[in-house]
Amino acid sequence: MISTFKLKTRKRTELIDITSRVRASVASSGVQDGICTVYVPHTTAGVTINEAADPSVARDLLEELNEVIPFEHGYSHLEGNSAAHIKSTLVGSSCQIPIAGGNLTLGTWQGIFFCEFDGARNRSVTVATLGS
Ligand code: ZN
Repeated sequence: MISTFKLKTRKRTELIDITSRVRASVASSGVQDGICTVYVPHTTAGVTINEAADPSVARDLLEELNEVIPFEHGYSHLEGNSAAHIKSTLVGSSCQIPIAGGNLTLGTWQGIFFCEFDGARNRSVTVATLGS
């Protein structure tokens, strides 16, 4: 089953915890054992799994990405958002999580984050579940 949900980002760069929305998509798919793919159909955003318990982890991730890949760096791309494209490629545009007993098998501290690198914008996330 494939479902999509919308997301409105509010900052130029931000990490948004989408774990509960992905869990809801998995629940409505009815899949008990299988695999969940979370996919972001954007070239200036990404998706990643990391610690969701302490919000300072997501803040550090974002600050460090912004430090390593500066917004201005003499890039060629005329649209002016090359930093966002580079961050998108580094982070990646999909994640896969096994489903067991109808639940995502995330670790205790793990959460799924939508990564905005060129906001604020309207975005979407696709969740594909495969299994029985
Ligand atoms: Zn661009």
